Amino acid sequence: MALPAGLTKRDLASALEEFAAAVGRQFVFTSDEHINTYRDEFGPLRGTPKDPVPSAAIAPGSVEEVQKVVRIANQYRVPLWVISCGKNWGYGGPAPRVTGSVVVDLKRMNRILEVNEQHAYALVEPGVSYFDLYRHIQERKLKLWIDGPVGGWGSVVANTVERGVGQSILGDFYNFQCGMEVVLPDGELMRTGMGAVPGSPTWQQYKWGFGPHVDGLFSHSNIGIVTKIGTWLAPEPPVFLSCQVSVPRFEDIVPLIDITRPLRQKNLLVNSAVFPPRLGRPQDPANLGGWYNKIGFYGEDKVVDLQWQHVQDAYAAIPGVEFKARRFTAPYDAGEMDAFGRTLAGIPGVGGYGYRGVFCSPILPFTGEAIWNMIHSFDRIYQEYGLRYFGEAIHIHQARALVAPATVPISLDDPKVNETAVALVRRLIVESTRQGWGVYRITTAFMDEAMAAFSFNNGALLRFHETLKDALDPNGILAPGKNGIWPSKHRGRQA
Ligand SMILES: Cc1cc2nc3c(=O)[nH]c(=O)nc-3n(C[C@H](O)[C@H](O)[C@H](O)COP(=O)(O)OP(=O)(O)OC[C@H]3O[C@@H](n4cnc5c(N)ncnc54)[C@H](O)[C@@H]3O)c2cc1C
Repeated sequence: MALPAGLTKRDLASALEEFAAAVGRQFVFTSDEHINTYRDEFGPLRGTPKDPVPSAAIAPGSVEEVQKVVRIANQYRVPLWVISCGKNWGYGGPAPRVTGSVVVDLKRMNRILEVNEQHAYALVEPGVSYFDLYRHIQERKLKLWIDGPVGGWGSVVANTVERGVGQSILGDFYNFQCGMEVVLPDGELMRTGMGAVPGSPTWQQYKWGFGPHVDGLFSHSNIGIVTKIGTWLAPEPPVFLSCQVSVPRFEDIVPLIDITRPLRQKNLLVNSAVFPPRLGRPQDPANLGGWYNKIGFYGEDKVVDLQWQHVQDAYAAIPGVEFKARRFTAPYDAGEMDAFGRTLAGIPGVGGYGYRGVFCSPILPFTGEAIWNMIHSFDRIYQEYGLRYFGEAIHIHQARALVAPATVPISLDDPKVNETAVALVRRLIVESTRQGWGVYRITTAFMDEAMAAFSFNNGALLRFHETLKDALDPNGILAPGKNGIWPSKHRGRQA
């Protein structure tokens, strides 16, 4: 069994006994067979001594059990790593940052506590997947739409706190978060925003509460375990248009982005995602081809038609541009939509492009020039490693910045491919830092490098996080190293 640094076998065995008393022996997993399911299937460190191995996993079934687990971890100084559905593929899977961590698997806490049709929100526990929430809404015939990542197997809580991206009107998940319940590193239970007012009817309706707004401290964070989250939903639109704008040449990405920006700023486009032509495979440099932008329009009959017409007029300036649109009206039949239509409508799918890799996702200014520069800078670096740049999509859910995940292939059985992946991702982070981009999210193995980019004034931001970490989690038990934030006992000693 992998031991956490500084713990004896006896200490760990005693802690596991206490965990078993807290959550039930059947929910403490220590066999190799079980532990393997908590390692990163997409991990670039696979097969190397640096690949983190948990010592155990435990699955509490209630908030009280989570609190007990945290208190026991403090007593024995056991590092914990929290997962909700544990499917963080491409960004680290269910695996911890440090070997010997006990994975706290929240899958069993999977209650949908409320779906409110009048005010269009849901309150859910961590183990609720997008499939669960969608099914719940469909079964009750509620007139609400959700959005999620391409794989419906992910957790609403995890994708919200990790600031994941979808492709519909609700595609910037964290933006639509409203109210949290959090177990703090000492086991204390806290509700944010209006949830701190006992009996408040507006916990999921008004984000800000009174005093400093702290919800963001629990996003990309290691100072709390989120046990409930509020998320805003969209009222079912009477009409949905699933549209595609295709441009023929590789360089057309520049006008495509520049024309999209003012449309997005004016809310004439509320969402969209730009894709390379050969989704699922690294691009063939001899035949780069064009791009397509998938756009959804959601709303009243004549309004969506006018919006789509206006948008077509704007893109018509690009020679050779082509438009496609399919119109759907409520009540909707998902079976009538193609895969992209379903994604734009927030209908969860099985996801996956048949491409195993890790993501490096820079944040870019919303200009064609910035995207063009990124593609070419990244492609030059990929070529140094015998590869070509492959970007999964350019996400346009905000009006002022773009998220453009670059994908780097890994292999289940070829260590050379993974050595290349590690070196290449590190180079991409260095390049992103040099250009001032930073990344929005990264595979666990590269979190230190990603955080190092945020270095203004001798790393004042990281020092602030470290101050909070040490004050709230003095024993450093909660997800040490997550997002490059280490507790004092690990600082400077991390591998
Ligand atoms: C082919 C492919 C397509 C993908 N498409 C998308 C996409 O469209 N959009 C997107 O955003 N991502 C995408 N991903 C990335 C990722 O796989 C998904 O975001 C996935 O849903 C995350 O898994 P999960 O929800 O089970 O999170 P988990 O593995 O449960 O959690 C992820 C992380 O969140 C934190 N966390 C989880 N629960 C809690 C909690 N309760 N309290 C505090 N912290 C917590 C932990 O640090 C944990 O490591 C894709 C990946 C692949 C391989």
